[in-house]
Amino acid sequence: MRADTGTPSAYIQPIYVTKPLSLGTRSDSVKQRDHRLRGPSGAGSERKEESPTLARKRPSTRLPESDKPAVPDELLKRARRVARRLYKAYPDAHCALHFESPLDLYVATVLSAQCTDERVNMVTPELFRQCRRVEDYLGLGTQRLEKLIQSTGFFRAKTKNILGGCQAMLERHDGEVPRTMEELVKIPGCGRKTANVILGNAFETPGITVDTHMGRLSRRLGFTSEKDPVKVEADLQRLIPEKDWTKFSHTVISHGREICDARRPLCEECPVRKDCPFPGSPEQMAEMESRARSRSQGPKKKTPTKAAAKATTRARRTPSTRPRPSGSSKADRTSKKKSG
Ligand code: SF4
Repeated sequence: MRADTGTPSAYIQPIYVTKPLSLGTRSDSVKQRDHRLRGPSGAGSERKEESPTLARKRPSTRLPESDKPAVPDELLKRARRVARRLYKAYPDAHCALHFESPLDLYVATVLSAQCTDERVNMVTPELFRQCRRVEDYLGLGTQRLEKLIQSTGFFRAKTKNILGGCQAMLERHDGEVPRTMEELVKIPGCGRKTANVILGNAFETPGITVDTHMGRLSRRLGFTSEKDPVKVEADLQRLIPEKDWTKFSHTVISHGREICDARRPLCEECPVRKDCPFPGSPEQMAEMESRARSRSQGPKKKTPTKAAAKATTRARRTPSTRPRPSGSSKADRTSKKKSG
């Protein structure tokens, strides 16, 4: 069993830990369909034989082409080099969530929002024991489901999403988890990030999952300057071959958890340091300075709000109506002098 890092997981690392993914029939049918689409494998010629119409039909998570200029050759080569080194450094990078079916993965993914994979994996065995189909979740009802998933946090919203998602799957997809990005993102609780996880790990459709680690590393490595996850995904799709998108996601996220921490990246131990523009960059220097400053200053002082600042100024200007102690006013002091 893989030891999870226990970091809050905006992202999920599926693991085929306790049992292999029981998608035998489905996977077989996908392989057969892909075989039909691609023609006989081997000799590296399958793509050439594929008609453009069939190629369009194969599910893909590729975003529409942006109007950005073509990727410079040097950046492309560097990105591929970084990817290769990371694959070598994390050969076992994979999903940390336990699941046996696409529905399990959908539910585990919803539960993993603002929660560690470890905690999710503690909750799901009992949940999956009771619920194998969408009807089981719907039959469980709100209160019982809330109780089962309570320890993952935000359990009311998660319950609503899971029940909404199961209802939608029952009504629109015969109780099955849909297999395309377009359909998945219409399911409650399933954004593009979750959809990429499900497609990549349960349906063999490559996808780049942009969570907080992927976003941070992509910017540090100079692969994107975007902050919006969809734009980051689009930039990465231009750099990494489609077949590697899922593997790339697991690998980069593992690297983000283990080495390239948000606050203290261990650059000196990093296998891609030579190809990373971040160490010594103005961005990193600024981060280090601000960390040093906050350490020396201790806890941050509370900045007064505009209203509070105004009130203070007004109080300074307004003469106080409180009686002064006798002898403290200017008049008192003058009369004292005269009498003295
Ligand atoms: S060199 Fe540092 S910033 Fe760059 S990827 Fe490695 S750990 Fe992250």
